Amino acid sequence: MTQRCYCVTAHNEPLKLFRQPIPEPGGTQVLVRITAAGVCHSDLHIWEGHYDLGGGNRITLKDRGIALPLTMGHEIAGEIVKTGPDAKDVRIGQPVVAFPWLGCGECPTCRRGDENLCLKARSLGVFQSGGYQEYLLLPHPRYAVDISGLDAAEAAPLACSGVTTFSALKKFGPVLQEQPVVIMGGGGLGHMALAMVRAMGGHGAIVVDIDPAKREAALAAGAVGAIDGAAADAARQIIAATGGGARMVLDLVGAPSTVNLAIASATRGTEIVVVGLFGGELTIPIPFFPLRPLAIRGSYVGNLAELQELVAFAREGRLKPVAVTRRPLDEVNDALLALRAGKVVGRVVLTP
Ligand code: NAD
Repeated sequence: MTQRCYCVTAHNEPLKLFRQPIPEPGGTQVLVRITAAGVCHSDLHIWEGHYDLGGGNRITLKDRGIALPLTMGHEIAGEIVKTGPDAKDVRIGQPVVAFPWLGCGECPTCRRGDENLCLKARSLGVFQSGGYQEYLLLPHPRYAVDISGLDAAEAAPLACSGVTTFSALKKFGPVLQEQPVVIMGGGGLGHMALAMVRAMGGHGAIVVDIDPAKREAALAAGAVGAIDGAAADAARQIIAATGGGARMVLDLVGAPSTVNLAIASATRGTEIVVVGLFGGELTIPIPFFPLRPLAIRGSYVGNLAELQELVAFAREGRLKPVAVTRRPLDEVNDALLALRAGKVVGRVVLTP
């Protein structure tokens, strides 16, 4: 028995269709038949083969230990169809979302539950085969989170855009419930962040995006304000909209223009959490850190406990589903090109 599988064989070249054997689960492994796979902007970075470090410098995927050919896709939902002899407490036919941010499972970081921060990452769709195929092996049933009652295409993005925005927003602590958060970037992650702010009892969110269609969609999705990040007075607009300056900025773009805009819109005690990987470099006057005081930190996806918590929110109806556009798996190349061209509102989810 074989399956269809779309692989990156060369950066920036169309993904190629291969037929590969459907893997057999052994030990504690479970085999998932994929029913939905989200297309994340991180897949574009992987496909393009590098991250921009600014000043003409790049870190390549090869430098990160990512080898081709690669089946991308890390927002994966499906149903369990087969289990290894040692996989316990699993039901055949159970609908699941896969936790993709696997680590070595043995180091202190993994044992603490932060596999997403493991130095020997084995993330699905990044370091090993992911969702742009029909079947997927998971090493253990604990990585298959039960999504009974949820739509698979709406649940798949929880594995990346969901857990990433959840983990990043949690870093603001209780201030999230007291003041508006400014979200840079109203794309796939931006839409999820809007739903997440609401699910977390947040005060409200102001979205900054350079694309009018994304700003309009953000307002329709519940943003309390939408500001053009390219406007000459964007900082002034953010300061006015936040009642004196942004206390929390979630930067889902991660470019010099967005971080500099965040700093220009800051109040005292501002925290900026950078998630986006658009890239570049920054020059920041050091006195800003102690005098304002200003905090800038990064956030990388999330851990298994956070995904479980999030899926529970979704199953309880507390986290509303974000808008998804379903496309057949065979249209993966068109879906990536549309995302690169900025034509996607919300998330595209591929269905085999
Ligand atoms: P997306 O393409 O769906 O959305 C990006 C949005 O940013 C678009 O709406 C675009 O118009 C807007 N934008 C672009 N430049 C801008 C600017 N200068 N100012 C304001 N808005 C701007 O992408 P996505 O899937 O939401 O992913 C966003 C970024 O987050 C990507 O770089 C992705 O790799 C990264 N990411 C990081 C993590 C992490 O754990 N750190 C996880 C997932 C994704």
